[in-house]
Amino acid sequence: MISTSPIRTRFAPSPTGLLHIGGARTALFNYLFARHHGGQFLLRIEDTDRARSTQEATEVILKGLDWLGLQPDEAPVYQSSREARHAEVARALLEKGLAYRCYASAEELKEMRETAMKEGRPPRYDGRWRDRDPAEAPAGVKPAIRLKAPREGVTEVDDLVQGTVRVGNAEMDDLIILRSDGTPTYLHAVVVDDHDMAITHVIRGDDHLTNTFRQVMIYNAMGWALPRFAHIPLIHGADGAKLSKRHGAVSVLEFEREGYLPEALCNYLLRLGWGHGDAEILSRDEAIALFDLGGVGRAASRMDYAKLTHLNGVWLRQAEDARLARDVMRRLAEEPGLVLDEAAEARIAALMPALKERAKTLVELATSASFLARRLPFSMDGKASVIMTDEARVMLASLAPHLAETDFSAAGVDAALRAFAETSGKKLGQVAQPLRAALTGTTTSPPIDATLATLGRAESLARIAAATAPPSES
Ligand code: GLU
Repeated sequence: MISTSPIRTRFAPSPTGLLHIGGARTALFNYLFARHHGGQFLLRIEDTDRARSTQEATEVILKGLDWLGLQPDEAPVYQSSREARHAEVARALLEKGLAYRCYASAEELKEMRETAMKEGRPPRYDGRWRDRDPAEAPAGVKPAIRLKAPREGVTEVDDLVQGTVRVGNAEMDDLIILRSDGTPTYLHAVVVDDHDMAITHVIRGDDHLTNTFRQVMIYNAMGWALPRFAHIPLIHGADGAKLSKRHGAVSVLEFEREGYLPEALCNYLLRLGWGHGDAEILSRDEAIALFDLGGVGRAASRMDYAKLTHLNGVWLRQAEDARLARDVMRRLAEEPGLVLDEAAEARIAALMPALKERAKTLVELATSASFLARRLPFSMDGKASVIMTDEARVMLASLAPHLAETDFSAAGVDAALRAFAETSGKKLGQVAQPLRAALTGTTTSPPIDATLATLGRAESLARIAAATAPPSES
């Protein structure tokens, strides 16, 4: 039975670790698919594994999704709050005769595994309590509840990415749905929650494909409509190996720290494993309009930082200047020796069109903007000090009055610099480089006219004066 209800998808992370980019892409695909169909995107925190789940990890997931702009349409569902319901469904299956109590002890299970291994069979539960009279139950032993899985025929899943996949039922054993301590197993909880949350499409990593067959058996036993499944290939590192901490910045929030824009990361993750003709740069709205599961490839994709950084540069140039200036201010707050007042923010915003042309990340942008918030006196970097010769000091001292006479517009200072270069027989660059060193303490900045105009008359002249003053004796 296939559901025809309004589209509802979910992202169901376990809060046992970081929100890594594989998870972020799964969330993105679920979000885009729901939006494309005018449906809802939900979030379920799968925190049934109490020992490994942490509040901190939950917060990192929520923060990461928020940063990516993938907020769910309803309040998050915490799986741990639904244990009573998971147990209720397990009991319903018992009553239907489609599940049974299993009293096998840990030793028995171990022995079963060892025998299977010795005989070269996959370790499976042998079904010893499946048809046994419950009257034979050992006293004082709390049973686990197992699903009476079909033993004949095949279980088939018509996956929206993988195509039709099937497994012979003889290859699967009777899975535990409720442990002897009354807690649900993960496979069971997911099915009950997806059903109760009216999820129509389960889009998740293909490492869950084998779980799907077992989950389908639970749906079938309950007589519940199956959702559609779409198992998307995993993301591998640049070296082709499964993505792990070894590959560096894999937490989504680490990308934020490294200066990536969320829209760039989403664009990158979308294109990683999904294609639509040649479309490379896609806004959120375009992605929503175009996204379909048919465009998801079947091969694992490889993380390509160079491509991500390129996309980030593209999105940076399209981003609003005031927003970038705010971000730069936040990043600069961690650096000593800067004056981060409104005037600094205004300067950073004013020079942003030129600054963002040269940066690929927000970290680079902050570095290149920091001179605008420097407080006098400041030191020069190595290259700038080399340029600041005695001759350069003398030249800047005689240039200053000419600049002071201008209106300090970019055009005004440009005309004064050209005239000064011409009368002193220098190339414009020979004037501009020492001037840049004096104004910024570095040898790179946006065009010198824009740099002067942004710093303004008082600050520019003060910086030139400080640079031309003879070095102090101390
Ligand atoms: N909680 C699982 C995980 O984090 C996902 C389960 C699912 O999507 O069905 O891998």
